[in-house]
Amino acid sequence: MENVIIIGSGCAGWTAALYTARANLSPVVVTGKQIGGLLTTTTIVENYPGFVEGVDGYQLMVNMQQQAERFGAKVKLGSQMEAVDLSERPFKVTIDGEMHLTKAIIIATGAGHRHLGIESEEILKEDGVTYCATCDGAWPRYRNKPLVVVGGGDSACEEALYLTRFGSIIYLIHRRDELRASKIMAERVLANPKIKPVWNSVVTEILDVTKKDVTGVRLKNAVTGEESVLDCAGVFVAIGLVPNTQMFAGVIDRDESGYIIPNHGSKTNVEGVFVAGDCADKHYRQAITAAGMGCMAAIDCERFLASMEG
Ligand code: NAP
Repeated sequence: MENVIIIGSGCAGWTAALYTARANLSPVVVTGKQIGGLLTTTTIVENYPGFVEGVDGYQLMVNMQQQAERFGAKVKLGSQMEAVDLSERPFKVTIDGEMHLTKAIIIATGAGHRHLGIESEEILKEDGVTYCATCDGAWPRYRNKPLVVVGGGDSACEEALYLTRFGSIIYLIHRRDELRASKIMAERVLANPKIKPVWNSVVTEILDVTKKDVTGVRLKNAVTGEESVLDCAGVFVAIGLVPNTQMFAGVIDRDESGYIIPNHGSKTNVEGVFVAGDCADKHYRQAITAAGMGCMAAIDCERFLASMEG
């Protein structure tokens, strides 16, 4: 019987692991396939307090893992939660085909990349359509070629700036005429001569499905309705996130977008199940807020377990 199983290994999951480990609860962390979560796919993180010159996202997550392990967190590396039964306590969690009993659960499953939702995007995935410039941008296929980034938030700006190292020109396609990104990121993008914003434009098709390779995008102007084609060798989609909460549908309360609804701090509608990080946060979604929520969930969990015993 475990005290607490933490599902997810981003900032929220590792922070929850650190705090519950230091409370002698020997937490089990189910990391999922993407160990360290979305932050491992970024380069430098400049807004995590305590790092004057910034910190590499991957390294930050490795540090968090090691810190949690130092205090006794038990890490199931690369493991996936396959099923969960929250109908009674102890809860039953199936991990890699094996059933585990646990007194409490902290959900820290984070969020994944939103897709454009067009057929050609799905067909050309891994053939020039990608969701991560830092993972894929250096591929030879993109070198000195025109590239497209879709989106107007911080992620799209970050991707566009990173890709200026590789592409000949970076088209930033945004559906409005104003970036959503933070001021500092927007200013960097607009000042970069290698980035050309394409305003009020929606990608309606990625070409060329028949060649099984990206050769361009078909655009529709959101104001005039005019259609055009832009040649490019790669499409980097950065249009936000979707919470990874599908496995809790119908059991844990979620909002209309799928975000888990926390109440009184990190509690969910099921007693003994807590939540932290991007899977429960559509407003802030920062590394530091996820870490803070992980801390809250750990403290709430510790108090819950203590109340069960006392
Ligand atoms: P975001 O802030 O939600 O921005 C998503 C962008 O994609 C918006 O510009 C949105 O357009 C556009 N979009 C959404 N759905 C679309 C669709 N179907 N077709 C075309 N465009 C679509 O998401 P994000 O940029 O991934 O950022 C997520 C969070 O992480 C934010 O809180 C951000 O601050 C944070 N973040 C921070 C950093 C940093 O600090 N360095 C880096 C990356 C991310 P509209 O503007 O019209 O809604």
